[in-house]
Amino acid sequence: MSGAWRITVAEGVGELIFDNPDSDVNVLTSTHLASLDRTLDELSERKDLRALIVTSAKERIFIAGADIREIEGITTPKDATDKAEQGKAIFKKLEDLPYPTVCVINGACLGGGYELALACDRRVASFSTAIKIGLPEVNLGILPGFGGSIRLPRLVGLLKGLPLILAGKMVTPEEALKNGMVDRLFPEKTLKTDALAYAVSLKGKGRSPRKKDLSTAFLEDTPVGRAIVYDKARKDVMKRTKGHYPAPLEIIRLVSRTYGRSGAGVYRLESEHFARLGTTEVSKNLIKVFFLSEKYKKHRWTDTPVKTDGVRRCGVVGAGVMGGGIAQLVSAKGLPVRVKDINDKALAGALAEAHKINQGALKRRRIKRHQLEGRMSLISTTLDDSGMGTSDMIIEAVVEDLGIKQKVFKGLSEITGPDTVLASNTSSLPVTRMAEVCRHPERVVGLHFFNPVDRMPLVEVIRAERTSPETIERTVLFARRLGKTVILTEDRPGFLVNRLLLPYLNEAAYLLQEGMPCTTIDRIAENFGLPMGPIELADQVGIDVGYKVAHILQEAFGERMKVASILEEVKKAGLLGKKSGKGFYIHDGKKRTPNPEVKTGSGSRTSAEDALKRMVYIMINEAARCLEEKVVDSAATVDIGMIMGTGFPPHRGGLLRYADSIGALPILKDLERLAKDVDAKRFEPAKLLVELARTGRGFHS
Ligand code: NAD
Repeated sequence: MSGAWRITVAEGVGELIFDNPDSDVNVLTSTHLASLDRTLDELSERKDLRALIVTSAKERIFIAGADIREIEGITTPKDATDKAEQGKAIFKKLEDLPYPTVCVINGACLGGGYELALACDRRVASFSTAIKIGLPEVNLGILPGFGGSIRLPRLVGLLKGLPLILAGKMVTPEEALKNGMVDRLFPEKTLKTDALAYAVSLKGKGRSPRKKDLSTAFLEDTPVGRAIVYDKARKDVMKRTKGHYPAPLEIIRLVSRTYGRSGAGVYRLESEHFARLGTTEVSKNLIKVFFLSEKYKKHRWTDTPVKTDGVRRCGVVGAGVMGGGIAQLVSAKGLPVRVKDINDKALAGALAEAHKINQGALKRRRIKRHQLEGRMSLISTTLDDSGMGTSDMIIEAVVEDLGIKQKVFKGLSEITGPDTVLASNTSSLPVTRMAEVCRHPERVVGLHFFNPVDRMPLVEVIRAERTSPETIERTVLFARRLGKTVILTEDRPGFLVNRLLLPYLNEAAYLLQEGMPCTTIDRIAENFGLPMGPIELADQVGIDVGYKVAHILQEAFGERMKVASILEEVKKAGLLGKKSGKGFYIHDGKKRTPNPEVKTGSGSRTSAEDALKRMVYIMINEAARCLEEKVVDSAATVDIGMIMGTGFPPHRGGLLRYADSIGALPILKDLERLAKDVDAKRFEPAKLLVELARTGRGFHS
């Protein structure tokens, strides 16, 4: 026994068990790797073994990966190379054991964990839904450095292996069996005994070569074929990342140098390429974002603990774009949901939309047909209040009109018991005003989903003036049950995300108004790393929707959020964006061209650099105000909110992490200049920013 590793032997078959004594999770720290090294030395000497299985003593976790804190701590390329070389030397010892080895995957088997599995002769897993298998290193801006970048393509072939590493995809046991990442699946209950029998049945360490069809053989085994594969992979990566992420390109470079080759040299190359990534700012930012998102999965927002959300039945009022999406999501989590609307066409539309989303999941093999039917059977619809009164959580998603929402809340308050949470999905209206008309204002809360509901990972939970901590906690738990990351915001217009996003969209509209072409504006934002340019986004959201929220913010914050006149004109002309086929762009399927009906200025003299500053600094400045006003509790909440709510580029670490990388003083100077040259109100620096510039601190320090 050495540290977290122990060996047992029965009937000539050894079992190497990993059991981290200090945690519920198995993670490969350098201490655990060192003790594995000693254990493997001992195992390599043993003459009494005819096979070995490698198992985890943790329930439903094999090995979650290498220790990310240690990766974060890498400061020099030499440090990175040493770490990778040490790890792969240990896994080589596992690979070289003189008898067959079988890795028994009973749960999460990720990163370094799957690299260890790859060093075994065979891999088996159970059918458990807790199992995820993959090499997600690319998501942290690095590549698998313990031999995984070499062994996975070698095992499953270039055509399957390269995309798996490039996407950092985590697959189910069934998918892993299909693509060759594991060799056998056994029932969860008999996994270990079946694995033992399987290990004993192996004739030796070798395996017969994979059979390939002609086109696979051409693409994987000829220089021309491989060049085609690498070229396509490079183009796909550039399209997806615009070159902002060095890791996928480095992975392609590495695999193109190592695939089809053997010997120690290829492993050495892996360490070299790993070292090029291990110290990049992108990787450090991605790791910070990873820790941030882990933290916010569990973050406690109040001091009032509640055990469960108490939701057995859910209600949704308003069956439009959002209500339909929310109903689909709730039913997908196995909860019955009653949807009310005043319009039966809307109800039919919501059912059709839910069906379409489920069909998509069926097509991508995420669910089976009976699950689709099960989900749909959980959604019921009504034109009156029947069946709403028994809901434990009702989410209002009617039109963005305070009077209408108040009427809905008053009605709901009268037909529900004191334990039912009444939540509004409003984008910008005061939840406190909705609570005012209710019998129990303490159970009224905001629960702001983003569109499309099934795909956007964030929700804002909004604390109205009298919302009780218990209501907040129950709503947070409910949102987490739906798979969302939660941030808590105070009840101020636009909450956090829309309050920052709208000034950005508005600034883009000003740039357009001044004569900068919409395609140029969108390209500038995309080149910065945003998933979509602001003008395209405005068309996607719907000009009418954006217009309404923009006006609510203008009313609340005055001149500094004055809506660009071009938005007024486009709205007046009935150009509603993608949904009507015309907005700032003319939309024809996936194609879009600038709409000549939109009258802009002629020839803008603003540089791309200044355009970007205007759009991004206006958000940073507004975020500073949100912190001053305590709309949210911290810079970290702003960062996670903007990454998950708007797709703000994770490689920049988040809006305020990005601001810190530039420094408050240079941002302040630019804002002062823009206030002088462009608009005094829109660019008036926030007090907090001035203070940070004066004291030399950052938002995060
Ligand atoms: P929508 O216009 O698509 O749907 C609103 C639905 O409410 C319609 O089907 C309408 O018939 C129904 N309705 C109106 N009055 C009603 C009443 N008294 N009782 C029952 N149903 C009633 O609107 P949407 O885009 O789904 O937005 C709904 C809410 O969600 C708004 O508050 C909006 O601000 C917010 N929101 C929208 C988005 C978005 O991108 N669309 C994103 C986040 C939040």
